[in-house]
Amino acid sequence: MTSLPGEVKGFKDLEQEVQKAGICGKCGGCVAFCSAGEFHALRSEADGTPVMADESKCLHCGICYLICPQIRALDQELREKLDWKQPIGPVRRMASARASSQRILRVATDGGVVTALLTFALKKKMIDGAIVSRPVGPFSREPAIATDAESLLQAAGSHFEESLHVHAVGGMYSSFSPSIKEVKSLGQHGMRKIALVGTPCQVFTMQKMRLLQVLPADSIKLIIGLFCMQNFSFNAKARRALEKRMSVKLSSIDKLNIKDDVIVTTRKKDVIHIPFEEMDTFARPACFACSDFSNEYADISCGGLGSPDGYTSTILRTAEGERLYNLAKREGIIKELGLRGRKARQDHYTEMMAKIVSFSRRKQVRAAKTLREAGRGA
Ligand SMILES: Cc1cc2nc3c(=O)[nH]c(=O)nc-3n(C[C@H](O)[C@H](O)[C@H](O)COP(=O)(O)OP(=O)(O)OC[C@H]3O[C@@H](n4cnc5c(N)ncnc54)[C@H](O)[C@@H]3O)c2cc1C
Ligand code: SF4
Ligand code: SF4
Ligand code: SF4
Repeated sequence: MTSLPGEVKGFKDLEQEVQKAGICGKCGGCVAFCSAGEFHALRSEADGTPVMADESKCLHCGICYLICPQIRALDQELREKLDWKQPIGPVRRMASARASSQRILRVATDGGVVTALLTFALKKKMIDGAIVSRPVGPFSREPAIATDAESLLQAAGSHFEESLHVHAVGGMYSSFSPSIKEVKSLGQHGMRKIALVGTPCQVFTMQKMRLLQVLPADSIKLIIGLFCMQNFSFNAKARRALEKRMSVKLSSIDKLNIKDDVIVTTRKKDVIHIPFEEMDTFARPACFACSDFSNEYADISCGGLGSPDGYTSTILRTAEGERLYNLAKREGIIKELGLRGRKARQDHYTEMMAKIVSFSRRKQVRAAKTLREAGRGA
C-alpha cells in the first residue's frame, strides 16, 4: 500500500520503495528518528531491519520517509543549502595530509587525518564527543561515542588485534556500522556538540535531519565523511568464500584498507589486492543503489584514493571544515605532503581530482542501473 495523492509518505512507503526493492541498508535512520522523537512506532529487528512496532503510535509525520538515504527527497534543497557543485560537490581545497602524532599514524587507516582532527577538536572543546565506529574484527565494526583521545584511537584505522577475532565470532559480520542509531542516545549523554564520522549514506541522512531541524540532529556540529565505494556483510558461507579467495584465514588479517581496491595486509605482512568487482558478492545490496563516492555533503571528506600510502586525501568542503583543518595545520597537528614547486602541486591535485571524479562516475552509473532494475528509475 502506498500513499494516496496529497497524503504524506511514511513508513509504509519505505517498505514499498526501499525494503521491497531490496535496497534498505539497515542504517537505522528511520527508527532512530522515530525513537528519538518519542513516537516509538518503529523498531529494529535483531539484524537491523526496521519494522512497524505499533501503528497506533504513528503520527504520520513522514520524517522517516524523508530522511531515508535511499530516498532522494530533499536532495535539491540540500544541494542549495550546501552550495553543491558539479562534479563532486563543494570543494574549497584538497590536500594529501597526515597526522603528526606517531601514535595515531601507527593505527590509522591512511594518514590518520580523521582521528587527528577529532582529537584536536575535542582538546579545543569545539566538540564534546564524536560518533565513530570501532573495529570488532576483520570486516566487522560497531558504532560508538568517543569522548576522549584514547577511545578515538581505539576506533581509528583497520588494524585487528587477535582478541578482536574472538569477539566477532559466529553470526553476521558487517563492515557497515549503523552509526546514525547512536544519535538517538545523545540526549541521554547530555552532549550538545557532537562530530559524526560516517559513510556518504549516513551523512546524507544526517544532513536531511539537520535540514528538517529534527531532534537530535541539532547536536551534530561537524561531519567528517569517508569516501565509500561499498560496504560488506558476511555470513559464515561468505566468510569461507572470502578466505578461499584470499588464500588466508580471516584470523591472519592484520589490516584492511579500501582505496582503489580492497587491500588486505596479513600478519606476515603479505599484501593482497582484491578488485571491487571480485568483492561484489560480499557487498551489501543497498550499496549498489548508492551514487555518492566522495561524501559530497560532509564538512570534510577523507579517503585514501589519490594520495600516497600513509596519507589521507582530504577535501575541505565547508567554511567550518576548512577552519578546523587550518587551525590543526597551524598548530602542527596535521602535515601536508611535501610537493616542490607549483607544477608538482598542480599535477598532484589534478590527478587526485581525476581519480575521485572517475570513481564517483563509476558509482553513479552502477546506482542508475540498480535503480532502473529495481523499478525506481535513475
Ligand atoms: C566502509 C568504508 C569504505 C571505504 N571506501 C573507500 C574507498 O572506496 N576509497 C577510498 O579512498 N577510501 C575509502 N574509505 C575511506 C578510507 O578507508 C579511510 O577511512 C579514510 O581515508 C580516512 O583515513 P584516516 O587514516 O584519515 O582515518 P582514521 O584516522 O583511521 O579514522 C577512521 C575513522 O573512520 C571511522 N570508521 C571506520 N569504519 C567506519 C564505518 N564502517 N562507518 C563509519 N565510520 C567508520 C573510525 O571510527 C575512525 O573514526 C572507506 C572507508 C570505509 C569505512
Ligand atoms: S511517527 Fe513519523 S517517523 Fe515514526 S513511523 Fe510514523 S511517520 Fe515515520
Ligand atoms: S532509513 Fe535506513 S533502515 Fe530505514 S528504510 Fe531507509 S535504509 Fe532502511
Ligand atoms: S556504498 Fe553507499 S550505501 Fe553502501 S555503505 Fe557506502 S555510502 Fe552507504
